[in-house]
Amino acid sequence: HHTSMETIVELCKRRGIIFQSSEIYGGLRGAWDYGPLGVALKDNVRNAWRKSMFQLRDDVVPLEASILMNPQVWEASGHVGGFTDPLVECSNCNTRHREDQLETNKKGEVYCPSCGQAGTFGEAKAFNLMFRTFVGPTEDTAAQVWLRPETAQGMFVDFAHVQLTARKKIPFGIGQIGRSFRNEITPRNFIFRVREFEQMEMEFFCKPGTDEEWHAYWIRQRYDWYRNLGLRTDNIRIRPHADDELSHYSKGTVDIEYRFPMGWGEIEGIANRGNFDLTQHAEHSGKDLSYFDQAADERYLPYVIEPAAGVDRIALTFLVDAYRQEEAPTAKGGTETRTVLKLHPEIAPVKVAVLPLSKKDTLTPTAREVNDLLKPHFANVDYDEAGQIGRRYRRQDEVGTPFCVTVDFETVEDDRAVTVRDRDTMTQERIPIEKLVGYLQERFAQ
Ligand code: ATP
Repeated sequence: HHTSMETIVELCKRRGIIFQSSEIYGGLRGAWDYGPLGVALKDNVRNAWRKSMFQLRDDVVPLEASILMNPQVWEASGHVGGFTDPLVECSNCNTRHREDQLETNKKGEVYCPSCGQAGTFGEAKAFNLMFRTFVGPTEDTAAQVWLRPETAQGMFVDFAHVQLTARKKIPFGIGQIGRSFRNEITPRNFIFRVREFEQMEMEFFCKPGTDEEWHAYWIRQRYDWYRNLGLRTDNIRIRPHADDELSHYSKGTVDIEYRFPMGWGEIEGIANRGNFDLTQHAEHSGKDLSYFDQAADERYLPYVIEPAAGVDRIALTFLVDAYRQEEAPTAKGGTETRTVLKLHPEIAPVKVAVLPLSKKDTLTPTAREVNDLLKPHFANVDYDEAGQIGRRYRRQDEVGTPFCVTVDFETVEDDRAVTVRDRDTMTQERIPIEKLVGYLQERFAQ
């Protein structure tokens, strides 16, 4: 692979993008914090999804459901009984492992990854991945609730209410972005598999019989979304699930996978859930969740197509895909290695950096003026006046800032123009301050 996960983890830590949670206490496994640039990165991922799902369409509406729900939701969905991983315990060192992740040694025996002993495992036990907590002052089963392991159930239980009040006709979708929690046995690979993460899920309700067509449609839409945000085609693929891999609710699922340093991994699943969920919730709640289709003059339970993606995993995908080390010319005529994140401008955490050529009092007022001019128009403008200009360019390249604007002595004394440097080509253009906003907007729109 073009880069290692360690390189990405190190860059994220050094630049305060993503780092260990509660690190001063030694951290907590599978928990990560997003610093200023990480927040901007995640916001950009969310916004790009929202734009394609809501802003550019008339047939998908947003929802924000509660993380804590009536526990019956998870009985009906099948999560209380079925959302489990097979766990085995080592009789030698008492550590627990996921049975399906164990490996064999040269002799072909299954061994414990903690103590190395072979043949120390008994029978697998089902381990539920849902986190449990209690509402109110008593910690008994009557007060027990779950932290949601997916956002999807919010859309199912609110389906009838949203359909009615938003006056939507089938086909239409309900989407939400929100936190989900899974007590993963082995959180690993940085933010690829964590215990607390954010999902972007959409449930698209359609007429039975049209579901396969819609499934194909959403697979294409979602694949194009990644492509349009710059992911390299040889690093993404669409993989249909084999029959024995399908979830209990699924009529068919494909994963969009990315080629991570550790191998291919799912970044989004697109499932045809049939009418499984609405059937379950109608049965368990005793409420009629069917839809009356006026045009067809019939009543039915809609089928559901679900694109389900993870914000954190996609943020990681963009970082890995964008990472480059390349030879760049220096001012003195030599070359040096520069690290650059070739992020799509929509995903880049900093949009524009304003850099006075040097930290001189004569430059600061104009540089500040340019900074103030840009701020209302671009989501994240960075002002940096400390250190050599070459070093500052490298710092911006390293976090993928598409444009750097430098203010120099000519700007102030002569032409009221600034130099705009392009991250990828490193070419520089002289632009009058009064035309700068329009110029950059045009470049971002390209
Ligand atoms: P996996 O097989 O990797 O555990 P999954 O098939 O259980 O994933 P889904 O239930 O389909 O995942 O969830 C949809 C998306 O949510 C995934 O494609 C992924 O982007 C994200 N996701 C799921 N579990 C995690 C996790 N533990 N950490 C980070 N993101 C996750």
